[in-house]
Amino acid sequence: MDDTAPDTSAASRPPGTFSRVTLELGPDDKPMKLRYAGTCRLCGTPLPAGVDAVYERSLKTVRCVECPIEIPTPDVGTAGASARREYERRKDNRERRIRENHPKLGGLILALSDDPQSTRAWERGAVGEELMAQRLSDLPDTFRVLHDRRIPGTRANIDHIVTAPSGVWVIDAKRYKDKRPALHVEGGILRPRVESLRIGGRDGMKLVDGVRSQVERVVAALDGAEVPVTGVLCFLEADWPLIGGSFAVNGIDVTWPRALIKRMVDRPQDALDVDAIHTRLASTFPSA
Ligand SMILES: [Zn+2]
Repeated sequence: MDDTAPDTSAASRPPGTFSRVTLELGPDDKPMKLRYAGTCRLCGTPLPAGVDAVYERSLKTVRCVECPIEIPTPDVGTAGASARREYERRKDNRERRIRENHPKLGGLILALSDDPQSTRAWERGAVGEELMAQRLSDLPDTFRVLHDRRIPGTRANIDHIVTAPSGVWVIDAKRYKDKRPALHVEGGILRPRVESLRIGGRDGMKLVDGVRSQVERVVAALDGAEVPVTGVLCFLEADWPLIGGSFAVNGIDVTWPRALIKRMVDRPQDALDVDAIHTRLASTFPSA
């Protein structure tokens, strides 16, 4: 056998690169003769009015009954990848600088000193996202997860986006070892109630505002589809009290991995088209 010939059999392709050509009909799908011309959401084939096609109710999109070409499945991304890249970049820069400035003692200086706190913060963040991704891998197989997504036109990333049959969850993973997240409330009787997040006594509202703007971007990407979107700040290794703990600040859930997964799984499961939403979000927010 000539093993230099390209092997095009399905078994030789990387796993998960292609999805089935004919998708099963989900509860969100309506087979129909199209009243208006459209374009297949999956393969881009024009679908003239009058042909048999599948209407996807929640996203108001259409697709072929059977796509004529194979459809790549979305790149789900690698948790923590961009934070880890930034950590490596800073670490390498520092090493190079020290070796250039101290040709003889550079190695010794590096051995005896740590990376600055600002560099280590990137590694701590990457590890947090990796740990969160491990927890998310326990979700039921009706759920889809995207990791480390870029928000086009900004320098911001979204750590994780989970699409469940009940809605979308936008998750920011934070690793604050031994710090206690707490809800701080002012006013409420004579003055307007003002909620804020404290982390180990310090103001954490920048984190809440960050997740709120990520949620806005995701809602915009869903373009009017009736899909609930929930923003979450998920603290790993934090010092949560034994009783209570989880709360919301300005509409953003503040919680820890196990409690979050339980919430996502326990929420009554709707009939959303998980794959259609997942694919849309994967293309709007590319892998970072
Ligand atoms: Zn198609």
